[in-house]
Amino acid sequence: MSILIKDCDWIVTENATRDVLQHASVLIDHGEIVEIGEVKRGADRVIEGAGKLLMPGLINCHTHLSMTLLRGYADDMVLQDWLTTKIWPLESMLTSQACYYGALLGCLEMIKSGTTTFMDMYFFMEDVARAVKESGLRAVLSYGMIDLFEPERGKREIEKTNGFIGFLKAMNCPRITLALGPHAPYTCSEETLLWAKETAEREHALVQTHLAETRQEQARFQREKGMKETEYLHKIGFLSANLVAAHCVWLSSDELKILKETGVSVAHCPVSNMKLASGGVAPLPEMFEQQIPVGLGTDGASSNNTLDMFETMKICALLHKLHRWDPTVMPAQRCLDLATIEAARVLKLDQKIGSIEPGKQADLILLNMRSPYFVPIHGKDTVISDLVYTARSSNVNTTIVDGKILMHEGKVLTLDEDGILKKAQSEALKLISRAEA
Ligand SMILES: [Zn+2]
Repeated sequence: MSILIKDCDWIVTENATRDVLQHASVLIDHGEIVEIGEVKRGADRVIEGAGKLLMPGLINCHTHLSMTLLRGYADDMVLQDWLTTKIWPLESMLTSQACYYGALLGCLEMIKSGTTTFMDMYFFMEDVARAVKESGLRAVLSYGMIDLFEPERGKREIEKTNGFIGFLKAMNCPRITLALGPHAPYTCSEETLLWAKETAEREHALVQTHLAETRQEQARFQREKGMKETEYLHKIGFLSANLVAAHCVWLSSDELKILKETGVSVAHCPVSNMKLASGGVAPLPEMFEQQIPVGLGTDGASSNNTLDMFETMKICALLHKLHRWDPTVMPAQRCLDLATIEAARVLKLDQKIGSIEPGKQADLILLNMRSPYFVPIHGKDTVISDLVYTARSSNVNTTIVDGKILMHEGKVLTLDEDGILKKAQSEALKLISRAEA
């Protein structure tokens, strides 16, 4: 099927020259962008772009989708207490059904807030994959391995990961790709970390892990192992260009050099870091200097509490400006890049998505610009600022992935919104009552 998105007020391409087009159209055929600009050809379906802005769908480089069920359950706590007294006990009571509805709830939120691709790490990933397939979204999914340095537990985690690899192969959904997910250097043994790395190489998959999230974590690790987390991971041979490291807040300049040398990418989660008071700000300007690929993530909804990438872009810009006393340190264009084309680079999907260019897959969102806060627009030079500092996820009107319309005029077409809201609410309450029984 072909789709013509006709006469958009603005098209933000995120192509190599970051072109912003005014009064232009996009033609999609068989899921692919085939023409941009003044399109003369017709199409099977026409979507009116007047009063709207078309841009690449946003890419969330780090989340734990089914944690939507834990949203708002345990706020305003210190990370380690939060994990040990609230989150882990609750997670030990998770079921396949809870994770499925939590994932559907997350998919719904992402479709409605303009995210078209995400990278996930959690449990019951077969159920997450089912939800993603039904929703029409694109995802990179990993089972979160935690062995707590117990060999028997390590074996079980490997079995579960192997089961998930087999499941994804059988599912064979072209929008879902595999990643390996050893949770963190402080929850996984060397054997588990290296098994994940080697398996990822064999399966041509990415690896994701949490790295240097808080000062306390980094300090304790250094006390116990006599070296920093990144130094340890480098020493055991875990770091590679396949790795996406979430957070990277507490990194020294030597650790940044190691990340650069080994080709590691970073998923920066500013909202989660601020909410859990990680005690510092990830050194993004230095990462940019080292040309380390960086993308934005929300982290799970229990530490955010949304999956809203518009909010994440704005907070990212404001946080770094405030922290460095420098309003030029994180310009709007850079922030938008971190949620689109640069995020695609982090996920090794930049040949396929992340910008509006002929030959790329049609992962697109349309924003309704008929809002008081979008007036005035001074011209194409300020459109990017409007997107990062002014736009809200509630402006997302239409979401398209792989040329398929997932939401049109605010109505989600692939999922039963009311049904999912009801089921997710009841699954969340059941989960909490199991944990507190
Ligand atoms: Zn995380």
